[in-house]
Amino acid sequence: MSNLRPGILFVVSAPSGAGKTTLCRAMFDKFSDLRHSISFTTRPIRSGEQDGVDYHFIDQKCFDGMVVSGDFVEWAEVHGNSYGTALATLKHAAASGSDLLLEIDCQGARQIRNSIKEAGFIFVLPPDFLELERRLRGRETDSDEIISRRMLNAKDEISQAHWYDYIVLNDNLDQAGQRFSSIIEAERCRTGLLTDFLKQQFSIN
Ligand code: 5GP
Repeated sequence: MSNLRPGILFVVSAPSGAGKTTLCRAMFDKFSDLRHSISFTTRPIRSGEQDGVDYHFIDQKCFDGMVVSGDFVEWAEVHGNSYGTALATLKHAAASGSDLLLEIDCQGARQIRNSIKEAGFIFVLPPDFLELERRLRGRETDSDEIISRRMLNAKDEISQAHWYDYIVLNDNLDQAGQRFSSIIEAERCRTGLLTDFLKQQFSIN
């Protein structure tokens, strides 16, 4: 049925430490036809990451050039680095009818909201601030200063959750994964997306 409906754009945001990346990975494992949007960033590559797989890692000059050329559908500065989603990534997914999942911050999500109304917006929420801080400390990758900055940013980001279409509470990873996949399944059943399917299979206009 998926080739008889347009591809869906899923936009996922969360404060750092909420479990967004883990949940999104679980969705890519579960839905083999769900595609990952690879963003462009000026952030230095971390160990274990691969250029062209996790991100397209580029320098600031190149990023600024892409901004000027209008290559990004959205872009933002997050934690001191630039991140952007290429218009070409969306066009490519749309042309192949694929569902695309974007893991982006709230500023970028808002820009997409303003231009692509029919996208599905999902916010991943930690159970509370104490648990969020516990998870950030548990990673043992960040200094106290960075953790404090991430906790401050988390307040800002969570204040944006209200305008997303869905909130996935990540109190328990398995249950959160089930909630997330239910949202994907439900979005795929939207009547508005299935008009071609009705036409072709049942000759209903
Ligand atoms: P990280 O550097 O830890 O992978 O990501 C930092 C933040 O940047 C996360 O909130 C992530 O969702 C966000 N981000 C990643 N790619 C993009 C993008 O293309 N656009 C925007 N606006 N944010 C992004």
